[in-house]
Amino acid sequence: MDSDQSIFERIMSGDIPSELLYEDDQAIVIKDINPQAPIHILLIPRVKIPRLVDADESHQALLGHLLLLAGKMAKQLGCDEAFRLIINNGAEAGQTVFHLHLHILANKSFEEGQLATAFG
Ligand code: AMP
Repeated sequence: MDSDQSIFERIMSGDIPSELLYEDDQAIVIKDINPQAPIHILLIPRVKIPRLVDADESHQALLGHLLLLAGKMAKQLGCDEAFRLIINNGAEAGQTVFHLHLHILANKSFEEGQLATAFG
């Protein structure tokens, strides 16, 4: 096993089980193992970009794909009227898995004033 593999790469290779909701040639969508809201899913690009700031122009289409996918997943899960889309960038911002991923959280009440807390 490649010890540099992220946990998400191990999920994609089938090493670690997950609740897969969607996949295409660029990304997968899984349920978060430790949900912070009734709906908490992760959109994960197949390519490992450690943090958002490590993305470059070559990832532009992929980043657009992930944003569009977020909207589609929200519609599919019936939470398109109210959800939060979160990217933690860096350990001090709460990033624990260094393979870019987008969190969608929904079906709980979000207060504007809570925006700066971990997941509101
Ligand atoms: P972050 O803290 O932004 O890096 O988010 C990493 C997320 O990955 C956390 O919300 C974890 O609960 C989630 N996570 C870690 N391991 C797994 C796993 N095996 N399956 C699903 N989600 C996971």
